[in-house]
Amino acid sequence: MTDIIDGEKLRQKYLRKGMLPTIFCAGCGHGSAIDYVLRAIDELGLDMDKVAFASGIGCSSRIPGYLNADGLHTTHGRALAFATGLKAANPDLTVIVFTGDGDGIGIGGNHFIHAARRNIDITVILLNNFIYGMTGGQLAPTAPLGSIASTAPYGNIEDAFNICELAKALGAAYVARWPIHYPYQPIKSIKEGIMNKGFALIELMSPCPTAFGRNNKMGDVDVLWRWYEEHSILVEDYERIMTYGTEEEKEMVRGKFQIGVFQNVRKEGFFERNDRLIQRLIAEDDARWAKEGK
Ligand code: SF4
Repeated sequence: MTDIIDGEKLRQKYLRKGMLPTIFCAGCGHGSAIDYVLRAIDELGLDMDKVAFASGIGCSSRIPGYLNADGLHTTHGRALAFATGLKAANPDLTVIVFTGDGDGIGIGGNHFIHAARRNIDITVILLNNFIYGMTGGQLAPTAPLGSIASTAPYGNIEDAFNICELAKALGAAYVARWPIHYPYQPIKSIKEGIMNKGFALIELMSPCPTAFGRNNKMGDVDVLWRWYEEHSILVEDYERIMTYGTEEEKEMVRGKFQIGVFQNVRKEGFFERNDRLIQRLIAEDDARWAKEGK
């Protein structure tokens, strides 16, 4: 079993001290996300010179700036487009993207769809706090029905985007969702996502006491964590209840956030197909040249 690295060693080994402290508000979940990703990297024994990060704009997208590794802090919603280019230019890199629900699914939704359907070998850590935190608390497409945002002062009337269901439907190789206050499961999922040679989405429900919490009278982090507990259910339990439960039990879990691993499959990705295509074209070219006697 790998030795568990303590927090101080983790900071010394992986963080850029000149960039600290972080911009995160008290009670924000994003610091835990950094911790989990670095622990996953450490436990996998990855060489940080062969890891590169990419992000768009938003609180979570500031994360690569704190990490002592190469990173791209890009334009709003475009992290996956840049990350795809990065991976294509250097397939040996482990490419990890930090994005938020507003950045990655609102503004960058189209890039998300296409990166997932191409099954590009990238690991996406999507910090879902149900709101645009950095830019003023506007309504995000993940916001629960009825929730309050600066652009929805009377309550959200739109159904929420289920990011994991979308990624799964698009054929992403690895898809998981965990609340940020579960420490071990996210680390395990991040490791599994990095090891899977395909598109990996790890959605972490990360509390934003400042924008989402304050607007929704859940400004204390323990209130948000309790809300996560009360509104989430393991995907296995959800499916069991929906198959064998009584109508009353089904009604109690309907609408809860399902958490867990939704998909973990080994399937051919974009780069493998691209390599095969190149090999085929070279072989066809060689055969044509040989036939023409050149
Ligand atoms: S605004 Fe929200 S998401 Fe951004 S740092 Fe503060 S608590 Fe975190």
